Amino acid sequence: MTDRATSYDRTVRQLKRLVAKFSVLVAIGAILVAFWSGAIPQRMSPISPLDLSDKDSWFLDFRLTSLRHDKALCAATLKAPILIATPISDQPYKDGCGWINGVRMSSASSAKIPVNAMTCEMAAAFGMWVAHVVQPAAQLHFKSSVTGLLNMGGYSCRNIIGSKFWGDFRSQHATANALDIGAFTLADGRRISLKKDWQGDTTEAKFLRDVHRGACRYFRVVLGPDYNAAHHDHFHFDRGYLKSCR
Ligand SMILES: [Zn+2]
Repeated sequence: MTDRATSYDRTVRQLKRLVAKFSVLVAIGAILVAFWSGAIPQRMSPISPLDLSDKDSWFLDFRLTSLRHDKALCAATLKAPILIATPISDQPYKDGCGWINGVRMSSASSAKIPVNAMTCEMAAAFGMWVAHVVQPAAQLHFKSSVTGLLNMGGYSCRNIIGSKFWGDFRSQHATANALDIGAFTLADGRRISLKKDWQGDTTEAKFLRDVHRGACRYFRVVLGPDYNAAHHDHFHFDRGYLKSCR
């Protein structure tokens, strides 16, 4: 065999190895995207269904996403006392607005929070955040419980507000996949609002910072007053495709 032929064979072998490695990477990427987007039905998933009461749930993001298209799983998962919510009819997407697999929510962990339309996935994340972050933080900082949260915006057919770059894109609010929260009411009547209490080093500010930080585990996007002026008086939470906690 000539040196030239040997060199050719070696190059072909290296190329084949490279293609094989690339194919494995593409396959892993496709599986991750399928989980991230909720394309894998629960019955085909190796991960067990979400339990709202399990605050240490592994693969939490995938478990939440599996609720996206599955009405039966949603009905079996959203349960009192963590969440009081009832299924609502789909509003088919038009001009980038509408929802599928939505619920109407009235309370989460004994705290009143009326929301007319919200995706099941978003409601589950919200219920877990109130149960495992908000109520424990209220006990820690105020020795009290939260009895109500102020809804400052749920479903709204609109684009993203407050950003030049994202202003041409539909907000997650346009698909009932986002919720804005502006204040918390405690059992003793006190009211903690982002507008009044976010700044400084008070107990109220520490509570707000704790619940902001704790939200990042449950929602994909969490934006607070430090993000931009448009969010000076509320937290924005959503379960879209981006991941950001600011
Ligand atoms: Zn928002």
